[in-house]
Amino acid sequence: MAERTCAACDCELDANAVTVKIGGKAVEVCCDACARKLKEAHAGTTTAGEG
Ligand SMILES: [Zn+2]
Repeated sequence: MAERTCAACDCELDANAVTVKIGGKAVEVCCDACARKLKEAHAGTTTAGEG
């Protein structure tokens, strides 16, 4: 099971995969929309309410 999948929707990653940094950790997602989802989800888990 070494296939890379989107960290947001679990679909298979292809050439359009996008790498984003979440909490200092690099993760890969299938598209920009998923990247944004992850960022927003992470922001929601922080106690700092900036933004
Ligand atoms: Zn995705």
